[in-house]
Amino acid sequence: MSKKVLVLPGDGIGQEVTASAVEVLDFITDEYNLDFSVASMSVGGTAFNKYGTPIPNEVLNAAKDADAILFGAVGGTEWDHLDWKDRPENALLTLRKELNLFANLRPAFLFNELSEASPLKKEIINNLDILIVRELTGGIYFGEPRGIVSNKEPNYAFNTMIYNEEEIRRIAKVAFESAQKRNKKLCSVEKANVLEVSKFWRSIVTEMSSDYPDVELSHQLADNTAMQLVLNPNQFDVIVSSNLFGDILSDIAATLTGSIGMLPSASLDSSFKGMFEPCHGSAPDIAGKNLANPLAMISSLSMALRYSLNEIDMSDKIDNAIKKFIQAGNRTMDIATDEDYLMTSDVAKKIIEIIKDE
Ligand code: NAD
Repeated sequence: MSKKVLVLPGDGIGQEVTASAVEVLDFITDEYNLDFSVASMSVGGTAFNKYGTPIPNEVLNAAKDADAILFGAVGGTEWDHLDWKDRPENALLTLRKELNLFANLRPAFLFNELSEASPLKKEIINNLDILIVRELTGGIYFGEPRGIVSNKEPNYAFNTMIYNEEEIRRIAKVAFESAQKRNKKLCSVEKANVLEVSKFWRSIVTEMSSDYPDVELSHQLADNTAMQLVLNPNQFDVIVSSNLFGDILSDIAATLTGSIGMLPSASLDSSFKGMFEPCHGSAPDIAGKNLANPLAMISSLSMALRYSLNEIDMSDKIDNAIKKFIQAGNRTMDIATDEDYLMTSDVAKKIIEIIKDE
């Protein structure tokens, strides 16, 4: 049966970068006779303008039915004044929630050729290749009760940090299995020195480690990890953390590479179906100008092939092509050091040429 790929370009440069990823997807589908059916639908502000909602029911249903979703980016000043239910970003959170995409995988890697773009010294950052596994649908961002009380003296606000055992086990399982496919090191990050939720998290992850004797497990406090990511990021292979700490740590890790246009992400459910998107937003400042770097989106396609579509060879081909593309000196505007750069629409063509030559 064909595997279903749903493309949701969204807004701004989301449109341009997904067009590049689809060009690569169409090429490998034809060239290697892959059995994919690909559909594209509107989401975010673009959907709001057409249908009065950022996430029409047909899109949600198609997303639930898809094996993999390629999501561009949503948002833009045009829609900033709208109520939350109409805001483009609501589409993203609704998809994550409705599809139960609890595992967010954010690789942060550096091509040494681009180390000038990193805020860290070359000797610290070179060869960076880490994976942050962030819990995405639980923890303090969703915990109840929550609220702002404004009729007391003094007024106050509160949130609830909560994880149940099943939520911890399923994210830790993704992290242990990811570590098994990489360098077999897992660092679990929390604040077990002050938070009960973290003590509980640590005890469960520790207990699970006996099922993964090939993975070296360590524990670190989140504030220390924030420092260590800057001081010595290459000590890490896979990091697993809660929604809150993972949010902060994955942004630090992304910043280390200095090029937001390069980094993909995956959000997976328990059957490894998922949504794949670049870490960047819709970049209204460059939207429609053919200036965006589509490599984060093309890398997200590669993650879709690896994690949801069971086409690991194809994923390797794309990853190798991206590496060769950079090594050959090809640059888009965001990573160029001079005026000699490629436009968005040139990139997929070059990647395809490299795959053909392999
Ligand atoms: P952004 O990531 O869109 O842009 C930040 C800066 O990085 C801009 O200068 C932009 O030009 C540049 N940039 C981003 N991606 C690039 C690429 N692929 N190639 C070259 N340059 C790139 O973040 P922002 O400006 O804070 O947000 C803009 C809009 O995007 C907002 O509406 C925000 O809500 C939305 N947003 C959406 C997502 C998402 O859909 N997942 C994520 C973040 C922000």
